[in-house]
Amino acid sequence: MARRPMMAANWKMNKLLGEARDYVEQLLPRIEGAEGVDVAIFATFTSLGELVRLTQGTPVVAGAQNFYYEDSGAFTGEVSAPMLEDVGAGAVIVGHSERREIFGETDETVGRKAARAVSAGILPVVCVGETKEERDAGSMWEKVSGQVRAVFEHLDAGEIGGEAIVFAYEPVWAIGTGETATPEDAQDAIGRLRGLLGEFGGEDFAGEVRILYGGSIKPGNVNDIMAQRDVDGGLVGGASLEAESFAELVNGASNAKED
Ligand code: PEP
Repeated sequence: MARRPMMAANWKMNKLLGEARDYVEQLLPRIEGAEGVDVAIFATFTSLGELVRLTQGTPVVAGAQNFYYEDSGAFTGEVSAPMLEDVGAGAVIVGHSERREIFGETDETVGRKAARAVSAGILPVVCVGETKEERDAGSMWEKVSGQVRAVFEHLDAGEIGGEAIVFAYEPVWAIGTGETATPEDAQDAIGRLRGLLGEFGGEDFAGEVRILYGGSIKPGNVNDIMAQRDVDGGLVGGASLEAESFAELVNGASNAKED
């Protein structure tokens, strides 16, 4: 089954309201001709409502970068799935390596968040990936497969369609470093990840789930990455901060999977 490519911007902790407005104004005309690709922007909570408003009636999905799996209560500083629904978010990043490494998120919390997002009908983009030390020690797959397994301890793949969840393979050593995994390394990890999905939900499920690559994607390398069989798009940090370069990536993803 053909999977629809996706190009996603992770703004991280960037953009004031005015900057978000300028960005969307510059982006939309530049991606008008981009057919057959889903576009998402993951904004901070403070600009998410504005982003939803600005992207209404456009092909761009506004998403959050994080949330908490409980629905309400004494969780100071947190935002819940019903709150994301309320503001109109269509997607959410779950388990980004910066959340895992800086804010101590565990495989367990990531699994719970992924399951809660799916049950709320908000598309989770679940990030997995190994550190440089783990790669050098030959334990890339042990790490990545463990992170994926933890998700399916909370989520029944047999009950959800493959379109209800997206994974992003993001080797930690490639995030924000300018160092990109080779297209072959990206395909190797993502192909294995797809194989593992089959264990949880069967072949059809595995064939439907979109798996993105993330880690220093830029206009100069997007075509080679997108050309890999199992790579369905990108989660982009640095190169998504300027509307012009993100538009190039969206248009690149649209052209790459056209056949
Ligand atoms: C990311 O934040 O998920 C990311 C991949 O960042 P960058 O593109 O800057 O490496």
